[in-house]
This record gives sequence, structure tokens and C-alpha cells, in this order.
Amino acid sequence: MSSESCRSNPPLQTALPINFIIIGGGIAGLACAIALRRVGHHAIVLERKERANVSSHSGIRLPPNCTKILYHWGLRGILMQRAMITHTLLFSRYESGEFLGTHIWDEGMLKETRGQFMLTTHAELHEVLYDAAVALGADIRYGAEVQEIDPGSPTVKLASGEVLSADVLVGADGEFGVSRALVLEGRDDGNPTGLALYDTTISQDELLERANFLYEDNGIIVAFGLGRAIVVYPIQDKKELAFQWYGPDEESVGRYGDIASADIHSVANAVHKDLRAVMSRVRKAVRVSIRDHEDLEDWVADDSRLVLIGEAAHPFPPGTIQASAMAIEDGAVLAKLFSHLSEERQIESFLYAFQELRQSRVRQVREQEFGGVFYMTLPDADAAAQRDNGLREKAAAGLNALDGSEEASKAWEEMEVIFGYDCEDQADDWWLKWGMLRERALSVDQGAAPSLLDFSKMITQVSSTIIDEESH
Ligand SMILES: Cc1cc2nc3c(=O)[nH]c(=O)nc-3n(C[C@H](O)[C@H](O)[C@H](O)COP(=O)(O)OP(=O)(O)OC[C@H]3O[C@@H](n4cnc5c(N)ncnc54)[C@H](O)[C@@H]3O)c2cc1C
Repeated sequence: MSSESCRSNPPLQTALPINFIIIGGGIAGLACAIALRRVGHHAIVLERKERANVSSHSGIRLPPNCTKILYHWGLRGILMQRAMITHTLLFSRYESGEFLGTHIWDEGMLKETRGQFMLTTHAELHEVLYDAAVALGADIRYGAEVQEIDPGSPTVKLASGEVLSADVLVGADGEFGVSRALVLEGRDDGNPTGLALYDTTISQDELLERANFLYEDNGIIVAFGLGRAIVVYPIQDKKELAFQWYGPDEESVGRYGDIASADIHSVANAVHKDLRAVMSRVRKAVRVSIRDHEDLEDWVADDSRLVLIGEAAHPFPPGTIQASAMAIEDGAVLAKLFSHLSEERQIESFLYAFQELRQSRVRQVREQEFGGVFYMTLPDADAAAQRDNGLREKAAAGLNALDGSEEASKAWEEMEVIFGYDCEDQADDWWLKWGMLRERALSVDQGAAPSLLDFSKMITQVSSTIIDEESH
């Protein structure tokens, strides 16, 4: 990777560099390492797998709120080479192929978000983040499985027996990892939603001629009906198609990282002939059971220096647009807050500030993403008919699929807020409004011990101020 793609305006550097151990080298862990190194902290990433097995070649969609952070980190150039920009969503019926409507992202809206909507693969994104983290001096260790965490000390014990200590531990080891289990004081397998995702790709040379419509305008095709949905989009400079099937979950097993051994044909037999033609050459898929996990009240382990980020803090439905985006935002916010670190006593309060800033944002986005999966997989009854008729009417009137009705406008407005959100600005705002205030108060009253209780009240106030501001 060229060093140019890592160049950006230098961010504020911490006055007190400390040591972070990040447990898990997925998207969340690598993004966090980049963000922390950018502000001058030390970061060790411990990933249990070997590098070759840590990602998949399936598709991943990056919304503007995510690409804007990566651009800000100097990764625009490399992303332009490794990802594709998309502008269009095309809706159709699953079993008949009937065209239901198109949505073209508004240029003005996208410009305001300062990001773009991009399509790439999990592996490409992983590599971009890995290269950037290494270029910035992060220490990334593969084959380093964390078996035990002592959040009080704070230390981790690896499967090899080695014990490592740090000032702060970051749990980025996913929804089934040891960090989440420690904070929850137990396993969280999540509740099956009754839906599963089959995630795979198709090579262009395997495609039949008739499927070329899929490549037009780098569009994302969404076909739904019969309680099932297919999402298809080009990746790898149009050499491949990402192919995701959502539908009933008969087995409630499977997760990302499993071997791709599932056969889509056995579940997607009622699909329209054009899509069936594409599917005739589809590769074996990874089967992911879609689960609804407990909404964690605490992302920071009690009285300790272990904080959760990414899927470990907030598991998202698989294959959705915002899962990786939220993981990347987490790292960006954590680092922004810790760029202001000048004394050790601030560490705990910054961790709680992180939790407060992120929880409200993530809850809103997660709800929307689950809503999207349920919307696509509505059983063919009244609600689905309403969905389809609404789309047909808008297409007939020449309107964008997500514009028009009051309901659609509301959903669209919510999406604009989600895309337009700048998590790093929100972290800066927090510092200006509350962090600095508190520091000044402490310097006036040197004798007073900082009260975490009072501080978390201030944080709650700032969260609601931000929400109020956003809703205006
Ligand atoms: C192999 C894999 C492939 C994926 N492919 C896609 C895809 O194609 N499209 C898509 O949209 N999403 C995909 N995802 C999901 C996507 O990565 C997440 O939705 C999101 O980006 C946030 O990820 P995360 O980093 O928080 O968690 P995860 O992606 O789950 O990463 C957690 C990391 O922690 C590591 N880990 C777990 N336990 C330990 C431990 N004890 N010690 C050290 N390391 C540990 C895991 O090996 C993993 O690398 C995939 C996830 C994985 C793990």
C-alpha cells in the first residue's frame, strides 16, 4: 500500500501515551488500533486466528458515515482502488422478478455526509485496515488467543500461557468472545429470530449472459417476497457478485467464520428464473443464524479498564450495512476521547464517556438494521402487500422508492441522520462541552476527588443534548 493513502491532517496527539491491548483483530480491533495510533497511544492487537483465516471474501457494504471516517484517516485513495461506489438500489419481487422500484441516493445528501456508499469484500476491508494499522506502528499478533482476562489488573492470559498487561483492555472479540461473556457474567448465544443468512459470491466468468443487468450502475439488487429476500451487488471491480439470501432458519446454527458449506439451492427453490440462472453457478455459502442478542447495559466491566467495542458490545444482524460501520465508529470515538488524555485519573471517565456517547447512537442504528431485515423478509400478507404496492405506486409516479409517503419520508430522514452523523465530531463536542469543563473545575478545586457519579450525570445530559440537536 502506498504511504500516501495513510496521509491525512495530523490529529491532536495525547499528552500521555498509554498502552492498549485490543482483544480480537477483526474490523473493530484493527480500526481501533489505527485510531489509537493516530493520536499517539500504543496498541497491541491479539487475534486468535492466523492471518489467512481471519476474513472472508463475501461482500460488505460501507455507508457514508463509515467511509467518511476512513477518508479522514487518509484511506480514501486505497478505498477508491479496492471498493466500488454505488448510487442505486433496485427492488423487485423474489418469485416473479417483477420490477418494484428504484432508489437513487441523492447527490446533495451524499455530499453533505462527506462520505460515499461503497461496496467491497470483508477481506479487502480487512487488508486495508491491517496495512494502515501496521504502517502506523500497531503491533498485530496472530495465533494469539486470549483465554483469560483480568480486567482489574488489567491483564490477559494467552493460550500459550503468556501474560500481557496494559493500561486499558479493549474487547473486540465479537459477539461470542470472552470479553462480552466476562461483562455479561455468562454466555450470550442470542435468541434465534427465525431467520438465517446465506452469504456467498459468484465469479463473473461463471455468470450467464442474461445476468448482466446486475452490473448496471453498480446497483444493489434487492428481491423480496414469500418471506425471503436476496441481496446482490457487484464487488472486486465487477469481477464478482456478492450474493446474500435471507429466509427461514430451520436449524438455528452457523456464524461468520464457519466453513462455506451451505447449499443455497436447497433453500431458495422458489426464486425467479433470472435470479435462479445466476444462482445456478453460485458457490457454497456461509450459513449465519440471525440472532437477537441482549442489549448490554454496560460496555465497561465493573470498576475496571475493560471496554467492549464492535460486535462484542452490540451484535448486529449479519450482512447489514451498518455492522462494520458501527465497529469502525467505536474505534474512532474511543481514540478521539483518549487523544485528550493528560493524566491517568481520566482513564475511567473517558471509558464511561465512550459508553454514553456510543450506546444511544448504536441502539438507534441497530433497531433500523433489524427493521430492514424484517421489512425484506415480511411473509406474503397485508404488510408485504402494502410494502410492494407502495413501491409500485412510487415507481409509476417516477418517484424514488424511499421518497414519497409520510412513512417513507420518516424512514428516509432517519437514514439521512444516520449517514450524516460524524462520530468524531460528536466526541470533540463532548470534550468541548463536558470534558474541558470538568478539567477546569478540577483545577480550580485541586483538593476535590473526581466523582464518577457526577460525571456520568453530565454525560447523560450531553447524550440527550446531542439527540435533541439531531432531532431539530
Ligand atoms: C471470519 C469472518 C468473516 C466475516 N465476513 C463478513 C462478510 O463477508 N460480510 C459482512 O458484512 N460481515 C462479515 N463478518 C462480520 C463483520 O466482521 C462484523 O459484522 C463487523 O464488522 C464487526 O466485527 P468485529 O470486529 O466487532 O467482530 P468480528 O468480525 O466477529 O471479529 C472478532 C475477531 O476477534 C477474534 N477473536 C475471538 N475471540 C478471540 C480471543 N479469545 N482471542 C483473540 N481473538 C479473538 C476473532 O477471531 C475475530 O477475528 C465476518 C466476520 C468474521 C469473523
